[in-house]
Amino acid sequence: MSGPNKTYDPVQVTPLNADEVEAMVAAAQAAFAEATSTADLKAARLAHAGDRSPIALANREIGALPPQARKDAGARIGRARGAINAALKAREAEVVAAELERTLREERVDVTLPVALGPVGAVHPITGLMHLVEDVFVAMGWEVAEGPELEAEWLNFDALNFVPDHPARTMQDTLFVGPEGTNRVLRTHTSPVQARTMLTREPPIYVVCPGKVYRADEYDATHTPVFHQIEGLVVDRGITLAHLRGTLDHFARSMFGETRTRMRPNYFPFTEPSAEVDLLCFVCHGDSVGNPDRPCKTCRSEGWIEWGGCGVVNPRVLAACGIDPEEYSGFAFGMGVERTLMFRNNAEDMRDMVEGDVRFSRSLVGTAR
Ligand SMILES: [Zn+2]
Repeated sequence: MSGPNKTYDPVQVTPLNADEVEAMVAAAQAAFAEATSTADLKAARLAHAGDRSPIALANREIGALPPQARKDAGARIGRARGAINAALKAREAEVVAAELERTLREERVDVTLPVALGPVGAVHPITGLMHLVEDVFVAMGWEVAEGPELEAEWLNFDALNFVPDHPARTMQDTLFVGPEGTNRVLRTHTSPVQARTMLTREPPIYVVCPGKVYRADEYDATHTPVFHQIEGLVVDRGITLAHLRGTLDHFARSMFGETRTRMRPNYFPFTEPSAEVDLLCFVCHGDSVGNPDRPCKTCRSEGWIEWGGCGVVNPRVLAACGIDPEEYSGFAFGMGVERTLMFRNNAEDMRDMVEGDVRFSRSLVGTAR
């Protein structure tokens, strides 16, 4: 900063010279006009309107002027700063608007463009079919019950009236889990869930039990050592075989559309009487019976195909599970989920269902959610 200037001579304080000040304003305006981004403009603002800018430095020189000249120079600097700030503000508005416009243009997303969608996962057809079956029964007010896959031998067999030397208990049919003497098996059916349900609930009981089961089976087109069952159990007062019949017909129609079922006498330890459930053949609808000109491969011209087993719950099973057979009666049925899927979707080889080839699953999308 210059020292006091007793004899005022504007030429000696060059930065306050009117021409110099005008030049500063013109330089600032030119620099602002040249700036095309907010970053440029920030640099120009520091250079031409900041604390170290020529106009700021000139302002400091006012104090060095003789008193009579200060007012004049102060007014000139004030006007110049006003002009610089106005130019800065105006340019700032333009630059911000232009930048916004450019961003909107360059980063525009065309939401109407076609998109290449990646494959979307879905539940396996077996799981989807189990959900569908659950829905059929839940819609009738039933509950879904589940149990462990590693099961106590007592619940898997004894509670269900399998005698100790029943052939199903041998290693050929059942996978026992060590160590020996712990009497644990991989459940061979979902029926222990029924036993568990009866042991823990009071009738009336209306449950459907879907799940994985294990048997020491061959692995071929119609068998796998791990497969799925869905069983139903009802225990209530006054339950008869007729209730079972109506339930099975409704279940069958929900799965296969218009069809009929029939029962054939059979034996299961946990039901008495017991029956196999057959479905009217969905290929020939029974027309192949006694009609050698139109044989049916699916039902071997018998008109019916086996679907599952069922029966009235054996009173001994009710008693073993703490339910008074004098007061209550019930029915139970069970179907293989894989078999049901084969019928519904013409899936011929059970191995397709476990080998994980996504083409198989995809071919069933929409048919069994
Ligand atoms: Zn047929």
